[in-house]
Amino acid sequence: MSDTPPKRHSARDVLRELFPQSYRELFGEEPQSGAPTLGLYPVADGRLALVHGEQLAEFTPLEPKGRNVLHCDLCHYTRSRSEASLYRVVVAARRTRYVTLCLGTEGCQKRAGRRGLEKLADRIFPIEPVYAD
Ligand SMILES: [Zn+2]
Repeated sequence: MSDTPPKRHSARDVLRELFPQSYRELFGEEPQSGAPTLGLYPVADGRLALVHGEQLAEFTPLEPKGRNVLHCDLCHYTRSRSEASLYRVVVAARRTRYVTLCLGTEGCQKRAGRRGLEKLADRIFPIEPVYAD
């Protein structure tokens, strides 16, 4: 019997494991040192991955309910139901946050700028890793 120490997974490792194609698209080129990677990246099944340095959070879209307009938590535009979605983010074993984001994440992030993204990242991170046994 050998006791191997628990393997530490960085967000990037997780991303590479879960979404190898997205990973290659995102990190195909070595990021230059300096400011850590920060951004929202579309992954499989309409989900978004929020990456900040070595941290990663997965945003899962929820079925829309009701007919209210949505208010984007990132760029703060008011959006119709066809332009935005509510996302669920599991931040710990029993803690979940809900975030409304534009579906057109590229324009949304441009409107929000890096500061907006940093604010969002501050709300989400740090994430308590949840590993299934
Ligand atoms: Zn937005």
